[in-house]
Amino acid sequence: MQYKRSSALFSEAQQVIPGGVNSPVRAFKGVGGHPVFINSAKGAYLFDEDGNKLIDYINSWGPMILGHAFDPVVDAITATAKKGTSFGAPTVLETEIAQLAVSMVPNIDKIRFVNSGTEACMSAVRLARGYTSREKIIKFAGCYHGHSDSFLIQAGSGAITLGVPNSPGVTAGTAKDTLLADYNNLEQVKAIFEANKDEISCIIIEPVAGNMGCIPPASGFLEGLRSLCDEHNTLLIFDEVMTGFRLAKGGAQELYGVNADIITFGKVIGGGLPVGAFAAREEIMNYLAPIGPVYQAGTLSGNPLAMAAGITMLNELNEKPEIFSSINIKTKRLHLGMQAALIKHNIPHTINRVGSMISVHFSNDPVVDFASASAASGERFNLFFHGLLEHGIYIAPSAFETWFISDALSNEDIDNTIAAVGEIVAAW
Ligand SMILES: *Cc1c(COP(=O)(O)O)cnc(C)c1O
Repeated sequence: MQYKRSSALFSEAQQVIPGGVNSPVRAFKGVGGHPVFINSAKGAYLFDEDGNKLIDYINSWGPMILGHAFDPVVDAITATAKKGTSFGAPTVLETEIAQLAVSMVPNIDKIRFVNSGTEACMSAVRLARGYTSREKIIKFAGCYHGHSDSFLIQAGSGAITLGVPNSPGVTAGTAKDTLLADYNNLEQVKAIFEANKDEISCIIIEPVAGNMGCIPPASGFLEGLRSLCDEHNTLLIFDEVMTGFRLAKGGAQELYGVNADIITFGKVIGGGLPVGAFAAREEIMNYLAPIGPVYQAGTLSGNPLAMAAGITMLNELNEKPEIFSSINIKTKRLHLGMQAALIKHNIPHTINRVGSMISVHFSNDPVVDFASASAASGERFNLFFHGLLEHGIYIAPSAFETWFISDALSNEDIDNTIAAVGEIVAAW
């Protein structure tokens, strides 16, 4: 496949946009080459500016769980837009999506909508600090919670791909309040609590990590965090920006049967529009302005177009829960097929999968945390990525990202992908 026009468009974009992109991982810096410029998308496919049709395994980094330009969502946005696109005053759409989310997710009474996952996580931590009157937080190396200052300490995703785990511009004062532990290492978390008695406001974690590839929580890990938080009066924040409304109606809380105190959302909850949200039990959420002391606000928060898209998406998932088993079965088909191809050609690999999140690491060792994810072969991943792109298959341009399976993918798309994987690795 040719990507000539994308290359030219990228050169032009670089003149006026830093690195040519509005979010770093899109620039393909981790894998080399230039990004693909998308013209349109429908269902499982992207159509780029060179006229190529690509099978999409990114799905806008998660939101398009039912495929691109899903008709009910597009119709809802169109109808709502005709009535005005923003009022800066309450609408019934906001109550409707809040009621829906509260009914689907365990252990939450109230939810506040914002414009991105970054904002949701940033606000959740402020709320936790305000509620507990403590300043320190624990995060895990390789977990990504958006780009606000407190989280850019060994963050995953684009921050790893670019090799700037600690971004300049984050002050030492901020960094000292973020305590780091290795994913799946409960002993380290215990030691941090011992060394910081009564100082830790919250633990924030991706209950299934998706920003260092896909890494499942080890058995007992989330439960262990829950008990430690209870013991130390610390709040547990599940960052379900990826996992929320993807792994189950009730996200990772439902899948693992572990309750968090604050849950953050993004991606699927906005149906492809810019939406984030954070939610908790009433006594915690009532700590927020205008009824509580913790300030948080947004001019476009609860925007009617975004709420209409979100409502339609959540309704679809709520009314057709078989979607979750359907995407899980498709993801398993992809997993087993790729695994067989990699084994056949003697390629060292580890495929991690939880529900419709999956990733391939080129290493025979278990990938359980940031160190083991980093130990896998980046060189092989890059060959793999470009091989797939030549076959018209679009996966995340970094080994430190999960793939997001959509229900629009057909078994034929998946089998074509598996065949391409076989062809690519046969040449190694
Ligand atoms: C994508 C993501 C975020 C950030 O969301 P944005 O909408 O990109 O700001 C936060 N946490 C996790 C787990 C994510 O995957």
